[in-house]
Order: sequence, then structure tokens, then C-alpha cells
Amino acid sequence: MRTAYRCRAYPDPDQIAMLNRTFGCVRLAWNKTLAERSTRYRTEGKSTSYRETDAALTAWKRSDDLSFLSEVSCVPLQQTLRHQYTACRNFFAGRAKFPRFKSRNGRQSAHFTRSAFRMRAGELHLAKTTGPMRFVWSFDRVNLSGLAPTMIVVAREADQRWYVTFTVDTSDPEPLPVTGHMIGLDLGVKDFIVTSDGQRIANPRCLERKARNLARHQRRLARTQRGSNNRVKAKRRVAVAHRKVGNARRDFLHRTSSRIVRSADFIAIEDLAVANMVRSRRMARAISDVAWGEFRAMLEYKAHRAGRTLVVVDRWYPSSKTCSACGHLLAELGLSIRHWTCPICRTRHDRDLNAAKNILAAGRAVARGDSGDACGADVRRRGPALPRSAEKQESCVVRHT
Ligand SMILES: [Zn+2]
Repeated sequence: MRTAYRCRAYPDPDQIAMLNRTFGCVRLAWNKTLAERSTRYRTEGKSTSYRETDAALTAWKRSDDLSFLSEVSCVPLQQTLRHQYTACRNFFAGRAKFPRFKSRNGRQSAHFTRSAFRMRAGELHLAKTTGPMRFVWSFDRVNLSGLAPTMIVVAREADQRWYVTFTVDTSDPEPLPVTGHMIGLDLGVKDFIVTSDGQRIANPRCLERKARNLARHQRRLARTQRGSNNRVKAKRRVAVAHRKVGNARRDFLHRTSSRIVRSADFIAIEDLAVANMVRSRRMARAISDVAWGEFRAMLEYKAHRAGRTLVVVDRWYPSSKTCSACGHLLAELGLSIRHWTCPICRTRHDRDLNAAKNILAAGRAVARGDSGDACGADVRRRGPALPRSAEKQESCVVRHT
């Protein structure tokens, strides 16, 4: 298993100079390679391998105007080409968007593999820098002097703070004890999560407050003049507000995902596209856009680590509109409707709880492997087969409360 430890770093002025130069070179290698790769694909219809980009990098280092590329460690440059190659492969496989050019603004990072750093007695030495780099180790349970990382990432965030991340291979942890509990999660409109056993996990108040603060700073930034000193200051304030939102969000997501993984052996969750559709309007985009993606990633690795089963239910499965008691499918259910009564079996439903129950049922069907590609289809089939005619749909009783 792979684990990462992220710490605040305090490089000295010489190290800062070298790292900034490295970031510049990483950016140049990335952008120039991406440009050439796109041109080649557009004109010749050919994709470019990692080996070809690495050969090009070597050629650039030998040329007069790009010889400065050899002043920094070659490892972060090769790593960035590897990342770009993976990003392109993901794009062609339909898993991701096309990689973007890197900007000098915002987060900068450099990846160092084993040949480009040395770790001895808890001291970190990076290639082409003198002296160990200072950082604050806050993982009391992990013995720093025995740490043997396979990779180091040094990053300068948009708010000018430095971080170093140590990637370590560790033995697989013991799976968590079996609970005999299964759970379905609905990404609520009002709450962050509603579980199939009726638990509601609200969006934390502090997060909304911090998000409003971020939005305020962003509006102020938008009103400043390009190139002005005020703009520089406003940008820094936005970066700080961003960090605070991010920290509060991650803290909340970590605690929530851990709690869920501890509580159940089987977890069913909806695909993300749905989450985006029913996004809470009260929350600033800054949180909700990324929160679900991060949450799912946390659930995935924590479930894997704990030996739990996590099932993602198809994005087209109508979890809100299906009656979890009889399987009847409503034609329409407005976003503002919090409660409804099934026209067939007369069960009164809470919108989100009903959806969570359906997600659990659909997840179990997926796990049993009896639903084919349309997840949850069998859940709908459980109820009486009803012709979905126009009259039928109009007769659906949906009550507001
Ligand atoms: Zn029903």
C-alpha cells in the first residue's frame, strides 16, 4: 500500500531559488511538450510516446537557448513528461479532459524520485541543493528517522506556502472488523449526505462561512486593475481564503468518510454526474464542485484499505423518482419537493432517504451481478409492472409539505 505524508516546508533562500528555477523548467518542459504533441496530433494524426518526449527534452538541453534546462535536476522534468503522457492516455481513453497548459500563477510542484533526493536520519537532501531542507514533521506515530520514501513532491501553493510530500510504501493494514451493516448514500440537496438508515450529515456551517469569505475576496479581486499592487494583494488574500476553505473541507470529508467506512461493510454511492445535477444552491461552488469528487476518492481508498465493498451506481438510475417500497417510477419530481407519497402503495417518502434506500438496493444488485449494465433496473422491476403512459404519469400524487 502507498501512503503519503504532507508537511509544511521551510526552504532556505538558496533552496527557494533552485526550486523556483526547477518549477520554471518543469513548466517549460510541460508546456513545450504539450504544444508539440498537440501540433503533431493535429497535423499528422499521430500520438507521441513518452520516449519521444524524453528524447526531445535531451535535445533541448543541448540547444543554446534552452541549455538552462540542465541547470536543474533532470528528474522532475522527466516526471512531468511521464505525467503528461499518462494524462494524454487518460484523455484518449475517455477518462479525462485534455491536459492543460501550466500557468506561472497558482500551485507549482516538482516530483523527485529516489535518484534525485537522499533521506538520511530524517534529513531531506534534494539534488542540486546544498544542506538539508527544513520541514515540520507532525505524524507522531511515524518514525521519521526510519522513513524511506519512494518519491518526494515539493510544492509552492498559491498562497506562497511551501510543502513537501513523502510517498512511502507500507504494508497493507488489517481489515476493519465486520459490522454486518450495509449502507446507501444519497448526496442530498439540503444535507451533504443522507444515508439509507436515515442519518443526515449536514454541510458544516464553518465551511459555508469560509466559502462566503472566499467569494467576497474573489469579487474584490475582480474589481482591481490588472498589473496593480492592489491586485497582487487581492490575489494573495484569495489564495489564503482558498486554503482555509480547502482545509475545512478536507477535514470534514476525512472525518465523514472515515465514519462511514467504519460503520458499514458495504457502501453504495451514486455516480458523480448526479451529484453535480442536484448540487446544493446554498453552498458556494468552491466547495460543492470538488467536495464530492474528493469525498468519493477518500471513500474509495479508505474502503479498500479497510476491506470494505464500495459500489458506484449508474448515473442514469432514477434514485429520487423511484418508490423504494414498491418500485413505482414517478414521471417527474421537482427539486424543491422534499416529501412525496407513492400513488401506488401510498408510502410516504422523504426525498433523500428514499433515494439513499434505492441507491443501496441498486448497489446490492450490482454486487450480485444480476442487473447487467443498467444498474438498478431490477430494483424497478420489483414493483408491479406499470404502463408508463401519459395518463399514468399525470395521475402521480406528489405532495408538498
Ligand atoms: Zn410505492
